[in-house]
Amino acid sequence: MKSYLDLLKLLPKSNCGECGFQSCLLFALKVFNNEVSPEKCPYLPLENIPQEFSGKGLTFNQHLDNLNLREIFRNLNDFPERARNLGCFINSEQRIVQLPYLDLKIQIFYEERGNPQALKTLSGELPDPRDEILICNYFIFNGKIPLSGQFVGLETFSHCTSKLKTLSRYAEEPLAEILSDHSLNIEKGLSAFEVNEFTQSSSGISFLIKVLPKIFLKVHFWYGEEEENLPPSCKILYDREALSYLDLECLVFCAERFVERLREKFI
Ligand code: SF4
Repeated sequence: MKSYLDLLKLLPKSNCGECGFQSCLLFALKVFNNEVSPEKCPYLPLENIPQEFSGKGLTFNQHLDNLNLREIFRNLNDFPERARNLGCFINSEQRIVQLPYLDLKIQIFYEERGNPQALKTLSGELPDPRDEILICNYFIFNGKIPLSGQFVGLETFSHCTSKLKTLSRYAEEPLAEILSDHSLNIEKGLSAFEVNEFTQSSSGISFLIKVLPKIFLKVHFWYGEEEENLPPSCKILYDREALSYLDLECLVFCAERFVERLREKFI
């Protein structure tokens, strides 16, 4: 695709507004400029979009190989404004943006003209290269739709079928195992994270965890019933507007990464 007009040809041109933009033309332009994921339009046949052009709709592994991502991030010359929009702390005198990421604190220096430099934690390098990709995407997406405060399952979002399995296998199932094994001291394990609305009862555990300033996961865990052959289970929910902030792939990765970081607390 050479221009956003090629992308526009694939859209229904109904200007229904479901993607958050007033017109299909504006949406096509935003996707072409890598400012929004093509997944935001439920009527866009994603299989017809060439991979190199699918922007934030690339799979996570494709993102890993996508050297352009870092370049796109470094070229965000409105980085401080994006950081403000995304709920980060800004020290404009020292030109530092800080943000929480799970149990880590991320620090990003930016240049006078506004472009960000490398991402670091307060103690050094990021523990996993995938973390950098996730955080870069968070700034590239620069979600503009306010969070709804309503939490929904991933199945609510369009084009989620393949991601549902990944979420279940790499986040919900292992999280159910961790919560089941460590239910007595789970609060201690969670204390490294920003957790709200924690409740524990005879039937299960629920809590809200902050992954990034505007990305939250709501976790519901049930102990299960041995007598009825019901194993422990877990469900992870996202804010209804979460896709404004990250694509599905990254949202699933947020959950996976939370589980990985939580597991480390019990080793
Ligand atoms: S959701 Fe799709 S069809 Fe509707 S306005 Fe956006 S791009 Fe056009």
